[in-house]
Amino acid sequence: MRDVKMSTKAVWAGEKDQLAFGATQVPVVHSVSFGYDDMDEWYEVAIGNKEGHIYGRNTNPTVEAFEEKIRILEGAEAATSFSTGMAAISNTLGTLLFPGDRIVSIKDTYGGTNKIFTEFLPKQKIDVVLCDTGDHAAIEKEVAKGCKVLYLESPTNPTVKITDIERMAKVGKKAGAIVIVDNTFATPINQNPLELGADLVIHSATKFLGGHADALGGSVCGSKKLVESIYHYREINGATLDPMSAYLLLRGMKTLQLRIEKQSENAMVVARYLQSVDAVESVFYPGLEDHPGHDIAKKQMNGFGSMLSFSVKGGVDTLRHLLPKLKYVNRAAHLGSVETIVGPSRTTSHVECTPEERAAMGIPEGLIRYSAGLEDKDDLIHDLEQAFQSLPESLFVNK
Ligand SMILES: *Cc1c(COP(=O)(O)O)cnc(C)c1O
Repeated sequence: MRDVKMSTKAVWAGEKDQLAFGATQVPVVHSVSFGYDDMDEWYEVAIGNKEGHIYGRNTNPTVEAFEEKIRILEGAEAATSFSTGMAAISNTLGTLLFPGDRIVSIKDTYGGTNKIFTEFLPKQKIDVVLCDTGDHAAIEKEVAKGCKVLYLESPTNPTVKITDIERMAKVGKKAGAIVIVDNTFATPINQNPLELGADLVIHSATKFLGGHADALGGSVCGSKKLVESIYHYREINGATLDPMSAYLLLRGMKTLQLRIEKQSENAMVVARYLQSVDAVESVFYPGLEDHPGHDIAKKQMNGFGSMLSFSVKGGVDTLRHLLPKLKYVNRAAHLGSVETIVGPSRTTSHVECTPEERAAMGIPEGLIRYSAGLEDKDDLIHDLEQAFQSLPESLFVNK
C-alpha cells in the first residue's frame, strides 16, 4: 500500500487478499481444516514452501486479514494474533524468556501482566525487576546491568502514567534487550512504538481495536524474525484467535481513527470538567498540563487518548453513591468501547491487591477509571453533573 494516511489504512488494509466471490467484505471462514486433492501441493503448503492454510490452530483467512490490518497500522514487518491480549503477552514472554534470564519492567503494568511478573515468571527462575513507573533513571540503571527483555506500557492503568519510549528503547538496545511496548491504551492512532525504537508492540485488541466490547483478541507486531518465533510458540501452545472474533475486530478497526479522535476529545473535556468539581480530589489525564507525563506524552503521542482516572473525596462511600447515578455509562471491568465505561480501580484493575498495596502504588480507594466513549461531550458532562449534585455533602465536605 502506498503510504496513505491512518484512516485510509484502517478502512482498507489487509482485506483484499481474503475476498472471495466478488464480496467486498472479508468472509468469516468457519473451517477448522483446509483440504487438498493434490498430495504434492498439500506437502508444499504443509512445509511452508507454498502459501495456503492447513489447520485452524495455525492460520485462517479471516484471522490473517486481522493480522495484516494491525501490521500495516503499526508499520511493522510482521504481525501475529492471539485469543486475548493476555495470550499475546504470555506467549511473547514464553517465547523469549528462559530460566536464568532477567526482565526489567515497571510497577504499573496491566493487572494480568503484573501477575505474570510477580507470580509466574519467578517460578521459572526468571529474574523480574519492576521499577517505579515514570522513574526513567531507575529503569536505565537496571537495564544497563543487562537484561533479555525491557517491557513497557504507556500510558498505564489506572493513573495513566507516561514512559518515554524513545529514551527507554535506546538504553534497551544498548544493553542488547528486546524492547516490548503494550500499546493498548494509546492505539496505533495515537502512538507508534516501533517508530520510537521498540522491537515489539502488543495490543489487547479486546479494547480499542475492536472497540465494541464484543470480541476478545490480541496481537504482536515487529520484525519477521521475532514475530515468526512468537507465532510458532502460539501455533503449538494453541492460544489462537477464532475467525468470528477476528471478523468483529476487523470491522471495529475500520472506524478506529474516528473513534480514537472523538474519544480523546471527550476525555479531555471530561478531565477539565472534573478538575472543577468540589468532590474530586485529583484528576489523572496526560492531556492536563499538570500531569507529570504531559511533556513526554506531547512528544510521543498524536493525541492524549480516551483513558483518564479521578479520585473522589470520601473514598469508597462516595463512589458507592456516585457511580450508580450515572446514566450513560457501563459500570464494568472493561475499557476502550464506544460506550463510556467506569469502574473503581479497587474492583477492576487492582482487585487482587490489598488496600495497603494499592496505596503503595498510588491508587486511592476512591479512584475511578473512566474510559470516554463516543457519546456527545455535553451529555457526558451533564451526566456527571447530575451525579455529583446528588451526592450528600456530608460524604465529601471536609474530607
Ligand atoms: C485488557 C488489557 C490487557 C489484556 O487483554 P485481554 O484481551 O483482556 O486479555 C493487556 N494490556 C492492557 C493495557 C489492557 O488494558
